[in-house]
Amino acid sequence: VKKVYLGIDMGGTRIKMALLNKNAEILRTKDIDAQAGLSMEQRLEDLVDDINGLVGSDCKLKGIGIAFPGIIDFESKKILSKYVKYPNAHKTDIPGWAEKHWRIPLLIENDARAALLGEWQHGSGKGCNNILMVTLGTGMGSAVLLNGQLLRGRNYLAGNLGGHMSIDFQGEICNCGNRGCVETLASTWALEENLKKIPNYKSSILYKEETLSFKSVFTCASNGDNIAEKLKLQSLEAWSSGIINLLHAYDPEKLILGGGILESKEEIIPFIRKRVWEYSWLPDSGTEIVAAEQTKYAGLQGMCYLLNIEIFNN
Ligand SMILES: [Zn+2]
Repeated sequence: VKKVYLGIDMGGTRIKMALLNKNAEILRTKDIDAQAGLSMEQRLEDLVDDINGLVGSDCKLKGIGIAFPGIIDFESKKILSKYVKYPNAHKTDIPGWAEKHWRIPLLIENDARAALLGEWQHGSGKGCNNILMVTLGTGMGSAVLLNGQLLRGRNYLAGNLGGHMSIDFQGEICNCGNRGCVETLASTWALEENLKKIPNYKSSILYKEETLSFKSVFTCASNGDNIAEKLKLQSLEAWSSGIINLLHAYDPEKLILGGGILESKEEIIPFIRKRVWEYSWLPDSGTEIVAAEQTKYAGLQGMCYLLNIEIFNN
């Protein structure tokens, strides 16, 4: 019987699960619909059958690691932020769930931090102990590794709020209550409102799309749609501006960019490199800017690393 860990990446739209051995090799995976909107407690109970099916009779589950989008108290294993997608997540006893069903330990960490650890151990961050990770997805997530240590801070906010760094104090109110956050200017959730602020936006093919995505913004822009081009440029400027602030704050050796929007990395990475070169205090050889390598399971591999060092001393 193989001893395995279970990694769970709870996104806003998909839940990714994988069994991993202690070397973070992925043995089996399962992807399911998040059905965010259900309470966290309900959603976890629903996962039990899927998890038992994944483990089967040939594996023995030793520990669970959950990567979650929100502010996480790593020590007491609690979700702190209340505006996340799963209602009542902040009131749910998550380690109690693992104890009740399998009598095993559980860890939970912010998804950007987990992805950073995965990239550090198994992806484009290998061999580098000072890393800033920025994920561009529904919002903009960030995490920081300094001298080989994950930066967490007294309230678990440190390095995590890149998307809510204000780059315009006169800007729009964000879903967090602050004004002019990077996410109000460039995120999937604010895409439609940002489209509607561009004059003559109705002339764009984007306007006719049912669900607006950055993928279509980049595609329409390269097909010559002027409105899409404006939206694309505004987004690239907003991300660059936020990223330069983060680079100044943490002065890492390497910036790793991940998240679904990096499908368009050929356009995003050169733009950000140029802006960093033009606008930052960093020397020309300052910070290497690269795309994430382990795009799908970095978060799960990061949770495997945490289980190894925090609980099993592997
Ligand atoms: Zn905000």
